[in-house]
Amino acid sequence: MSVRVRFAPSPTGQVHIGNIRAAIFNWLFARHSGGKFLLRIEDTDRERSTPEAVKAVLDAMDWLGLNVDDEPVYQSSRREAHLAAAEELLRRGAAVREDKGGTGKGEAVVFRMPKETAEFEDIIKGRLQKDAKDVTDFVIVRSDGNPVFHLGNVVDDIQMGITHVIRGDDHVENTFRHVALYRALGATPPRFAHLPMIVNAQGKPYSKRDGAAFVGEFREKGFLADALFNYLALCGWSPGDDREVMSPDELVAAFTLERVHPSPAQVDLTKLTWMNGEHLRRRPVAERLAGCRADLAAHGLWREGQDEGYLVRVVEAMAERLKLYTDMAAQAGFFFTEEFPYDDKVVQKRLKKPGIAEGLTALRAAWAVLPIFTATALEESLKAVAVARGVNPAEYIHASRVAVSGLGVGPGLYVMLEVLGRERVCKRIDRTLGML
Ligand code: GLU
Repeated sequence: MSVRVRFAPSPTGQVHIGNIRAAIFNWLFARHSGGKFLLRIEDTDRERSTPEAVKAVLDAMDWLGLNVDDEPVYQSSRREAHLAAAEELLRRGAAVREDKGGTGKGEAVVFRMPKETAEFEDIIKGRLQKDAKDVTDFVIVRSDGNPVFHLGNVVDDIQMGITHVIRGDDHVENTFRHVALYRALGATPPRFAHLPMIVNAQGKPYSKRDGAAFVGEFREKGFLADALFNYLALCGWSPGDDREVMSPDELVAAFTLERVHPSPAQVDLTKLTWMNGEHLRRRPVAERLAGCRADLAAHGLWREGQDEGYLVRVVEAMAERLKLYTDMAAQAGFFFTEEFPYDDKVVQKRLKKPGIAEGLTALRAAWAVLPIFTATALEESLKAVAVARGVNPAEYIHASRVAVSGLGVGPGLYVMLEVLGRERVCKRIDRTLGML
């Protein structure tokens, strides 16, 4: 049997990471098994399913590389098929017409659940059951003539030949009903895989109050598509070895539904940010430079025609530190302007203490005449000055970092000094001394 899966979002505006995670798992499963990945837009709520909301879904999928194997199916265009299925269920006696409110406004079509234990085998959660006494009938066509979600969802999955329904576990309750609908329509139910919920640090459903929750937000914050893709693939699934940083191809090769675990997946933005840094370092150099340049330009720190070689050296110096292109200006802006701000807290802590002004003066004097201005020479020189003055070199390391960058953290000090170059370093120490 060749696999056919679908992502079936109800467009509501922005695309929540929990929703797109379902798309990612479907896509990975289809690509791993050589099957088809389809898209069905469940747009029957005309108020919420605006063209913008649909576009947000398509954009998010496009950005993450979730390519589909056929034209999207718009559920709103399938109304006739849904109503025909309701007629068929009425003919078979599996559904009845009922005047629900007794208002005489028209009859709804109600599906009659078989009065027996409802059950199905979930690939992730195992056998799931619902007691016969908890099984209730439900409306499939409202008295206003509109088919409801359950009917459309099942009829469309049958028509699209869906073999596996992979969706969030908020749908487990629906699935008991859906399985009965498949059977009543004479169709074999697909296999079901309900994905564990995505939760915050407190174990509550992850929402926008926990930080970014929508795909578009992560994109705007400068996250890479491959990093978000990788992170969400690990929300509920693991490759079974200790790999974490994986490309989409590696994920495709390793993905199986059997390795999805049933317990909720906790979102940790710090981890995602770390992962972004790992992906960033794997990008081609030209792309990395472009990402950094863009953020510098957005902050007025880069103009066309500036020294590219210098940028390359700064980006290299930042290597391990930079996790997001959008952090470039905040973390490395001082490389590109003399008007960098000083972090007052670190100024107090590292500079405003006895002996530091004298130490910086001595370092400046040594560095002004250093034969070659390299990281190694700078390190030797700093240590020699510290020893000569009977001061712990760490004091001078911290002090000179703040003096030339205004910051308490950054790339390795000596590399940073070398990249900045003698002229900038001396000028900045002079300026700092003027402040002390
Ligand atoms: N449109 C529904 C949702 O977004 C159904 C999903 C499904 O069956 O996969 O939750």
